[in-house]
Amino acid sequence: MNSKHYHKVQVGDVSVTMVSDGFFPANSDIFPDVDADRLKAALDVAGVHSDAPEEPPGGYESAVNGFIIETGGKVHLIDAGSAGMSPTLGKLTQNMAAAGYHPDQVESLIATHLHPDHIGGAAADGKAVFANAEMVLAAADHGFWTNEDIINGAPDDAKPYFMMANAALVAYSDRLRLIGDNDVVCLGVTSIALPGHTPGHTGFMVSSGNETLMIWADIVHQQDLQFDDPTVSLIFDIDAEQAMRTRQRVFDQVATDNQRIAGCHLRIPAVGHVERANESFRFVSEG
Ligand SMILES: [Zn+2]
Repeated sequence: MNSKHYHKVQVGDVSVTMVSDGFFPANSDIFPDVDADRLKAALDVAGVHSDAPEEPPGGYESAVNGFIIETGGKVHLIDAGSAGMSPTLGKLTQNMAAAGYHPDQVESLIATHLHPDHIGGAAADGKAVFANAEMVLAAADHGFWTNEDIINGAPDDAKPYFMMANAALVAYSDRLRLIGDNDVVCLGVTSIALPGHTPGHTGFMVSSGNETLMIWADIVHQQDLQFDDPTVSLIFDIDAEQAMRTRQRVFDQVATDNQRIAGCHLRIPAVGHVERANESFRFVSEG
């Protein structure tokens, strides 16, 4: 029943479905310290090639995923995907339907952070796409994206990010739940503060019986580069130094604990384990 658009796994009594929102075309321009040749070499090793190699040149398809959590008879969604960023994105609700879920079932929309590829799909025409859902997000991200001084001081090319974050917040303004670190989000799911990429960037630990799955959000944006070299950062990291330290700490922890992980920008199935490899790490996908 799994497909290249979604992948369902069981974590004790909780089911978790990685659902693709599509992809955005990217190239080495989004990595400040990686040039086109280095990216191409990494993509060649992985055997990953874009279907649209000219758009942009030297590009690849950057996966974007949300996660449906079915627990205690209720349905929750971590991240809403994007809308309008690229014609190749915005497929989350379509792929949810293929996996057997409807947006009206979602009791809580849980945001890993307020970047457009994670909450752009939360609202359309000013209305909540997940009509019956509360929105759950880290207080630290809410504070950052709604801070008038930060918004006014942001460079022009960052302003659309603030507009999109606030459009999502407005659509759910009467049902926002702000969380911190280690808060219970829903039955069997607890928040993990992973600051750096954004101030309130948050992962979630799913636990049931003796099984766990860490949904680590944006710890990795490019799996062919960053496991091998966790120091690779992204132009969208708000604090790249902190994001890098967080990534290294999480890699260390999940490799030591043999912790099953899933990520927003890993290619579907987007779930697996991290192993140590030489001085670095390597991802072992479950499919
Ligand atoms: Zn992201």
